[in-house]
Amino acid sequence: MDYWAKAPERRDQLVLFPTRLDDAVPADAPVRLLDEILRRLDWSAWEQGYDLRHGQPPIHPRVLAGVLLFGLLKRLRSTRVLEEALTVRLDFRWLAEGFQIDHSTLSKFRTGHAKELRQLFVQVGLVAREAGFLPLTQLAFDGSRVRANNRRSGTRTPTELQAYRKVLEEQYAELEQRWNAADRAEGQAPGAELSKELSDVSRRLAKLDSVLAELERAQAAAEAVPNRIPVTDPESRIAPNKDGGFAPNYTPLATTDAQSGMIVGCDVIAQTNEDQFLVSQLEHVQQDFGLPGLSPEVLADGMMCTGENLQQLAERNVTLYSPSKLADPTTNPACRADLSVPVPQAQWELLPTQELKSADGKQQLQLTKDAFVYDADSDCYRCPWGQRLDHASTCQAKLKTGSHERRRYKSDPVLCATCPLRARCLKAGADPS
Ligand code: SF4
Repeated sequence: MDYWAKAPERRDQLVLFPTRLDDAVPADAPVRLLDEILRRLDWSAWEQGYDLRHGQPPIHPRVLAGVLLFGLLKRLRSTRVLEEALTVRLDFRWLAEGFQIDHSTLSKFRTGHAKELRQLFVQVGLVAREAGFLPLTQLAFDGSRVRANNRRSGTRTPTELQAYRKVLEEQYAELEQRWNAADRAEGQAPGAELSKELSDVSRRLAKLDSVLAELERAQAAAEAVPNRIPVTDPESRIAPNKDGGFAPNYTPLATTDAQSGMIVGCDVIAQTNEDQFLVSQLEHVQQDFGLPGLSPEVLADGMMCTGENLQQLAERNVTLYSPSKLADPTTNPACRADLSVPVPQAQWELLPTQELKSADGKQQLQLTKDAFVYDADSDCYRCPWGQRLDHASTCQAKLKTGSHERRRYKSDPVLCATCPLRARCLKAGADPS
């Protein structure tokens, strides 16, 4: 049978490749737009960092930065992969104008110009804005989770770290003694093995100190000090993985222009409280792009729909489009004109509830917090039965996001004992007193 499709291009067939590199890249290829933008930027600050009198002439920073940026656009981050792309991909070869750049040059450039590259990211956005591609009238904000460079089990408590440091210090002192003794002994140089052991312990001590320094920094910054800190990547924190379970993670944040799809702001945090960074990230976009105010519309997931964010954005005339977990006040019968009047029995089924497991393992419907309405004038809550819940105590609650003030409001147990709603208000078996 010889019915298989014939290869369109045989390997031994002579072919005529385009004579110019420029002919190999289509006129509307995205790489041409990036190149156009890069050529409009001012590179004088970058150029000042080069000695243009001695040694081999350097490759212009525009080319190197362009390769790294185009790599990000094509999801190629590894400098080894970029080195390969510069050989086998015509768009990369075109962008680099045929320069064969090795991975170590790209890596050194990336680490040596981290700050400038971040600024370049903003400059590219500014050029896109000048060209009318970036209206910045509607932004989208979200966070994600990426695994840190740390094993799940590679975490220690602060006490364990201190104890381990003591052990290492003792080891170091003992090795140092042996080294000095060998050094003093006539005609005997300290062995290579001893030298290796000493430098190994010294390296582990330095690593441990960097972990302890991170703990001190978190304490000084009044951040929530983790119970267990990742040892290899101490700036990360144990947090839920994207695919379930817990491990040391980071939370990257991205702010995107909804119309163009361009990322206009980004950051990486270790905590999982990205909702608390919404306003500050929008402010960064405002500063970077010189906007007179925050972008008027923001899209975000339900996590960002917190009272604090809603209040801050409303004060700045920003409309937040976000799914809300709060009950709709127009359909919630607890939101009534006179809070001292009980919700009519005919509307009890409409009160916001959630299914909870009772102490005996049975599922039961229980009123959510939305069924209790805050009366700011009297600093009290009103329950659906119209009873006042007065402020009883204040404490500091330690949450993942740090220390927060928690105010408790209490109902009168005598009234609760006779309330017809107590079955769905109190937990099964709970004593109203
Ligand atoms: S049980 Fe108490 S708090 Fe709950 S609705 Fe009845 S009176 Fe209000």
